[in-house]
Amino acid sequence: MAPAKDNEDTNVAVVVRCRPMNDNEKNYRKIVRVDEMRGQIIVEHTGVNADEPPKTFTFDNVFSDTSKQADVYNITARKIVDNVLEGYNGTIFAYGQTGTGKTFTMEGVRSQPELRGIIPNSFAHIFSHIRECGKTKQFLVRVSYLEIYNEEVRDLLGKDQNKRLEVKERPDIGVYVKDLSTFAVNNADDMDRIMTLGNKNRVVGSTNMNEQSSRSHAIFSSTIECSELGPDGQQHVKVGKLHLVDLAGSERQSKTGATGDRLKEATKINLSLATLGNVISALVDGKSSHIPYRNSKLTRLLQDSLGGNSKTMMCANIGPAEYNYDETISTLRYANRAKNIKNKPKINEDPKDAMLRKFQEEIEELKKKLAEGGQLSGSDDDGEESESEEEEYVDENGTKQTRKKPKKKKKTTEGKTNDPGKMLSSEKMEELKRVIEAERHKLFSQVDMEESEKNQVQLQLAKKEAELSRAQQEQDALQERLEALKRKVLVGGVDLLEKAQEQERLLEESAKELQARQAKEEELRKRLLKKEAEQKKAEEKFTNMQEEADVKTRALKKAFHQLMSAKSELADIQEEHGREREALLQSIRELHKELSQQVLIVNSYIPPDQLALIERNVTWSEEIGEFQLKCVAYSGNNMRKPTPSDEKRIQPDESDLSHVYLTYSEAPAKSKPVSSRAKSAKSKKKKELKN
Ligand code: ADP
Ligand code: MG
Repeated sequence: MAPAKDNEDTNVAVVVRCRPMNDNEKNYRKIVRVDEMRGQIIVEHTGVNADEPPKTFTFDNVFSDTSKQADVYNITARKIVDNVLEGYNGTIFAYGQTGTGKTFTMEGVRSQPELRGIIPNSFAHIFSHIRECGKTKQFLVRVSYLEIYNEEVRDLLGKDQNKRLEVKERPDIGVYVKDLSTFAVNNADDMDRIMTLGNKNRVVGSTNMNEQSSRSHAIFSSTIECSELGPDGQQHVKVGKLHLVDLAGSERQSKTGATGDRLKEATKINLSLATLGNVISALVDGKSSHIPYRNSKLTRLLQDSLGGNSKTMMCANIGPAEYNYDETISTLRYANRAKNIKNKPKINEDPKDAMLRKFQEEIEELKKKLAEGGQLSGSDDDGEESESEEEEYVDENGTKQTRKKPKKKKKTTEGKTNDPGKMLSSEKMEELKRVIEAERHKLFSQVDMEESEKNQVQLQLAKKEAELSRAQQEQDALQERLEALKRKVLVGGVDLLEKAQEQERLLEESAKELQARQAKEEELRKRLLKKEAEQKKAEEKFTNMQEEADVKTRALKKAFHQLMSAKSELADIQEEHGREREALLQSIRELHKELSQQVLIVNSYIPPDQLALIERNVTWSEEIGEFQLKCVAYSGNNMRKPTPSDEKRIQPDESDLSHVYLTYSEAPAKSKPVSSRAKSAKSKKKKELKN
């Protein structure tokens, strides 16, 4: 196995993994050879070109069909996760044709420890790190899981699986997904349950799991915040974000003979992957000042991972059989280009959106209030954690459950709580209890008390009792919130769970084995290189003309070989471009057809004055990549996109632009305003023609 390169600090690391032949491939030739020693993938030609020289690609690391999951983790992901624990951002994504092992690499078979993939192994790694840390460090680990399907972002952990989320950007925290659920987790099992929940949601809504997963991109993100006392006597928080991405299948969608809606869907899926390719090209050629991150949801979300603040690793997955030749070569080329991307990772120290310190401050404040009483101000959560009254958690079966969340008081603009009821300290509550007891005693013992005086005392007693009960409720609520917050903040050195420990032991054992093996291999590699160099030297030392002629003939043959390789490479690339061009033309033709249909509908059914009105009021929103009508309150921009069943229920209202919008959306399965669709199709067509 090739040693790890020391330029990984800045370059995107690229590794290739070839899966084993499967039972259906028995009759096919295996054309991929993996030279782990040299970090090379060698692909033989097929068909009429079978006698051409094989193509060779070199990468940071390559994994053969016998590679073990733990080795893949230790060689590729371990360093990145370690970096994330130090406060760097890290991204690992799996790229490749459907069926080549992306999900196997990223997730693996979670029920079998030795077959677990990068994601579950990262859980064990993260929590065993926390366990090994000193008690001076505190951690907050939060996870989210989303899917991009058809250029729509879906929260796989969200309550409402029909909801589509928006990708937003803020100068202080960068690109983020609005309203994405995040879960604070305490141990590797929590994370595992959350993954199970998310995967269940990937299945919902698709008739065929493989179909959906091969067409959607899934991003499992963990945010790890770690706070420690700095030399300046202040607590400092470092925040690392880890994105683990299982990309959609890279195969050309047009090849599957998709038409109509399927083709449109395919075009959109291609859009994210094509944009990913364009982003990589633009980053690599170094001449482009514009990197087209904004052209797709995927590249917007992974903006930092490519050319930005992140340590990034790409695993290109390939199949070994000859019928996969085209896709294998195309994947290897893609991966080859990605090697040249340079990132600028840095430790994220005390970023604006860190939650840990807010939690710690709130814990301190709650403790103080509970002891001393007084007003509670509460902390701002920055809206990232949901403000709902219920707290969600995932149970042992990976099913989402809710429990009541202790209410936090809303701040008024002056920073005071809305509820003027004051918190009582435990001491004061005891005192109040004594007073109530005394008054009650007075009431019962003084039989000769006047009726009016009795009423007076009773009234006061009732008031005090109400006060006590309110104070008790307040205190219980605070106590509950304190417990909830304490559950989220993890203290270094605490034993978090046995199972994770076992998994981590398995990983560590294989890391040791790996080290020994790598040392041996390094030795072998050195010897091999030395031998090659000696051979070359010997060849150059010729004593007579005959030898010189021989050497020159060999050199000539080698050059000729290189020429032939280059020629075949050129032909391959031309052929690939041809296929790509044909696919683009096909989608242009489809879009053109759709456009004419929309124009026909617009011309036949929309009164010209209404059309002019719409056109005057419609603007392109770069932010969400859609046309929007002005006058948000009237036009329905804020409405949830109607599903076909909703559309049937919607009754047009004559009074404003929403009438126009809603009437249009009655066209079957159309959710956007027609003019918007037409224009977006037009602009897309233009873009594609340009490309
Ligand atoms: P993808 O996610 O790229 O579509 P999968 O991960 O689902 O592909 O893999 C397809 C099949 O091949 C699965 O049955 C998987 O278990 C198997 N497979 C993939 N890679 C390997 C590997 N390295 N070793 C053993 N089986 C593998
Ligand atoms: Mg998959």
